[in-house]
Amino acid sequence: MTWYGTWMLVLFAVTALLVLAGFQHHLERTLATTQRARALRIAGVALRTLESGRADLKEVITLSFAPEATDRFISIADRQGRLLYRSGAPQDQSFDPLLIPNDLIEQGTRTISGVGASDLLLTTVESSSGARLVRVSTGSSLGAVGEEQRRFMITLGLGFVIIGAVAFAGGFLLVDRALKPIGELTRSAELITSRNLSERLPEPSTEDEFAELSRSLNRMIARLDEAFQYNRRFLDDASHELRTPLTVLRGELEALNRESTHGRFRDSVASLLDEVERLAKLVENLFALSRLDAGRIHTEWTPLDLSFLASSTAEQMRLLAEDKGLKLSCDSAVQLMLREGIWIEGDRARLKQVIVNLLDNAFKYTPAGGSVSILVRGTETEAVLEVRDTGIGIPASALPRVFERFFRVDASRNREGGGSGIGLSIVRSICAVHRGRVEVESVEGRGSCFRVHLPRVSKETAPSSDSSPSSPT
Ligand code: ADP
Repeated sequence: MTWYGTWMLVLFAVTALLVLAGFQHHLERTLATTQRARALRIAGVALRTLESGRADLKEVITLSFAPEATDRFISIADRQGRLLYRSGAPQDQSFDPLLIPNDLIEQGTRTISGVGASDLLLTTVESSSGARLVRVSTGSSLGAVGEEQRRFMITLGLGFVIIGAVAFAGGFLLVDRALKPIGELTRSAELITSRNLSERLPEPSTEDEFAELSRSLNRMIARLDEAFQYNRRFLDDASHELRTPLTVLRGELEALNRESTHGRFRDSVASLLDEVERLAKLVENLFALSRLDAGRIHTEWTPLDLSFLASSTAEQMRLLAEDKGLKLSCDSAVQLMLREGIWIEGDRARLKQVIVNLLDNAFKYTPAGGSVSILVRGTETEAVLEVRDTGIGIPASALPRVFERFFRVDASRNREGGGSGIGLSIVRSICAVHRGRVEVESVEGRGSCFRVHLPRVSKETAPSSDSSPSSPT
């Protein structure tokens, strides 16, 4: 719109200048033509007067043309350049005739400066009758032209302001109308994510470029939808197929482990069992992720107290923290004591998975002697869960990617912990399913803080049964 406005202004300014220059040129040409006709008329009268010899030239010219009264200049000279007549000062004093040179022999029209407030437009003609020749010059001040020009400029300026305002408003409305469908299309396109690829953009009923654009965007979304579905199916099928053999393997290895007495053999079986456990966990996570992506998780939405879920989950994991030499504190206890709770609506098992994954990471990436804390607080509209640790932290360059699938800051940092880079993407997906979000703050070498925001529901909507600390699943 700024571009359009500037363009209009430049266009108007150039048009105004051209129109003004044209108008000035036209005025001067009209004046010159009129003056030339007048000069020829004066010459005719002068020739006839001189030929007849009966009347005084000065008297005749003054009577016929009254140059002083009409604010004009007239001079008549003969062939030799002798001055036969010269008018006096005009009534409006617009020029001083004494300052006009006497030797006006060159024919044509020209502008003379310095004879008055404004320039003088002077026209000289020659006319002869028989052997007699007269040279007549007539002129008038350009002050009137200037005045005319000023008035024209004001009218033009006013006209342009009105036309400009109308054109600008019209253009604005037109551009706004023309761009409206694009704005709507952009807003609808923004709402389409990998989760709702089955939705389509609205297609206008008109047969124009916008309709074509919507159709081609919809075709693109359909192709994306297909590709995503194929990916999900593949992940789903692969993890499903892997689950059964892994369960069998785990069972067999556990049996072997129980039965074997040979020390080295027993160690190998135990290590194999660890690897199978790790693989099973990975497959389980992949399976969960593919279901979350497809929106096919079997979520059981119930109102629940997030502070209770956090403190009970933390209690269950306390032993793990102590094993690793970490101090675990849970600030949600205050809420519990107050019997108030921070209520949200969601799937208890999935939300517990969020807390487990965050605490698990905090334990994994905090060296012995460090501390981990979990806190739940409520704002007016949100329940906020915070897991903070004093661990190794995450470098700033890696922060924007930690929630990506299979992303690990540095594979060598957590090989021993067995991380696969899926835990946080599961956290993010679960938060999204619950219309929430997760964010992270971290300083390398000092620790990290993961914050989950979920929509809060008022206690009134929550059933009183859930406020009693029932055991979480
Ligand atoms: P992983 O299974 O590898 O832990 P996650 O998706 O849970 O995968 O985490 C992704 C990466 O983010 C991890 O590999 C780790 O480098 C980093 N990370 C996650 N949590 C923390 C934490 N509390 N402190 C330091 N780094 C972390």
